[in-house]
Amino acid sequence: MKYDVIIVGAGPGGIFSAYELTKIDSDLKIAIFEAGNPLEKRKCPIDGVKVKTCIKCPTCAIMNGFGGAGAFSDGKYNITNQFGGSLYEYIGKNEAIALMKYVDEINLAYGGEGTKLYSTADTKIKKMCLENGLHLLDAQVRHLGTDINYVVLENLYNYLKDKVEIFFRTPVEKVKKLDDGGYSVITESGEYECDKCIISVGRSGSKWMESVCNDLDIPTKSNRVDIGVRVELPAEIFSALTDELYESKIVYRTEKFEDLVRTFCMNPHGAVVNENTNGIVTVNGHSYEDPAKHTENTNFALLVSKHFSEPFKDSNGYGESIAKLSNMLGGGVIVQRFGDLVRGRRSNTSRIQEGYVTPTLAATPGDLSLVIPKRILDGIIEMIYALDKICPGTANDDTLLYGVEVKFYNMEVELDNNLETRNKGLFVIGDGSGVTHSLSHASASGVYVARYITGQNQ
Ligand SMILES: Cc1cc2nc3c(=O)[nH]c(=O)nc-3n(C[C@H](O)[C@H](O)[C@H](O)COP(=O)(O)OP(=O)(O)OC[C@H]3O[C@@H](n4cnc5c(N)ncnc54)[C@H](O)[C@@H]3O)c2cc1C
Repeated sequence: MKYDVIIVGAGPGGIFSAYELTKIDSDLKIAIFEAGNPLEKRKCPIDGVKVKTCIKCPTCAIMNGFGGAGAFSDGKYNITNQFGGSLYEYIGKNEAIALMKYVDEINLAYGGEGTKLYSTADTKIKKMCLENGLHLLDAQVRHLGTDINYVVLENLYNYLKDKVEIFFRTPVEKVKKLDDGGYSVITESGEYECDKCIISVGRSGSKWMESVCNDLDIPTKSNRVDIGVRVELPAEIFSALTDELYESKIVYRTEKFEDLVRTFCMNPHGAVVNENTNGIVTVNGHSYEDPAKHTENTNFALLVSKHFSEPFKDSNGYGESIAKLSNMLGGGVIVQRFGDLVRGRRSNTSRIQEGYVTPTLAATPGDLSLVIPKRILDGIIEMIYALDKICPGTANDDTLLYGVEVKFYNMEVELDNNLETRNKGLFVIGDGSGVTHSLSHASASGVYVARYITGQNQ
């Protein structure tokens, strides 16, 4: 079977590259290979009743399948170069923003119309942050919400399904370079050839991506991992921020070690959830646009970036080891009251039950100081006190901390400015490339490569 373009992975990167290719040239023969299921078959078995915690399915319904890791996400599309990836370093700042805006237009046209666009421009919050040693990063944020995000994906699937051949439950095992300059992808059900190959396998495909780079002699580097906790507190405490901005990225430099701690993935009235990456259970969060599905709590992550230097190369391995420690002690994610943490005692079930914040995730009460390195934990505690100055109540005893939240970064694949590897015709986009870490950047990278392949960018 021969295609003009084969796309590996049907996350936002893969979907938007397929979308743009079909828009530019409807004659192109395109196939997408996806390890997971179609959207409607993606179902996490955790129902809160029979199955309360992660049972480590072979392919995680949250991470794999049409829509990728973003399918059940909060659908926050951040239009900014200040976070979410370094796409601008390859294609330029203006082009990156233009593509993120284009992705936003498509999302609106495919079901997202009417959703709110938040902006940090002209906000008093920035000044308030600066007065308290905190730095608010600039961004526009389209909040689709988990429910509308799903509708957009359904509509994009309906658009693509007759124009592109989509192979579900078909993980690509190997990518081979052909003598004629094309590529062949090898799956359990057969071998498929193409002129151009776009790999967009996200975070869940990071280990596989490594093997492709080894096989095809593509240089990589990996030196960063972010480690921290997910904070959950009554939504009112953060409403000054979330009502105006929805999501705010705030950075704090700690006094003790001068480390940077930042807020990440803020979910007003949301829920804390488990995340299973390659069998390791970490914590994440999301929220719904539909007010009927709102909880009384807001959650967000506080993360500290660790950059390693020679000779250590396995930054993700370091993050995994810390997450494994929490899995070992708690059987999964650990939850602790802030008051218990600062008093140096573990939380137990009765202390959590007596607290005024009701956890939205059934996690094991425990002691995060046994899991998270002191330097990182000290930074997180310092930032909670700093946030308390702009959102009083953040440092309340009952504030819940879930651990561990780990943001794994894919190794960075060596790419030129068109996201092409040193093997001509082989492109790596989205989170799997190490260039992006977000829905908007991953999607934009897909559009960029589609335009490049069809000669629209030159
Ligand atoms: C719970 C959660 C909430 C999030 N919320 C947000 C948010 O609000 N805003 C934001 O910007 N980002 C968010 N993110 C991150 C965001 O989802 C990712 O940045 C984005 O999905 C990356 O897109 P991608 O296409 O690069 O990769 P992915 O979305 O990870 O898609 C990769 C796809 O490739 C498939 N695949 C992997 N290996 C293979 C293989 N060998 N063969 C075939 N297929 C393969 C996978 O099954 C997967 O479907 C969230 C992530 C999670 C997990």
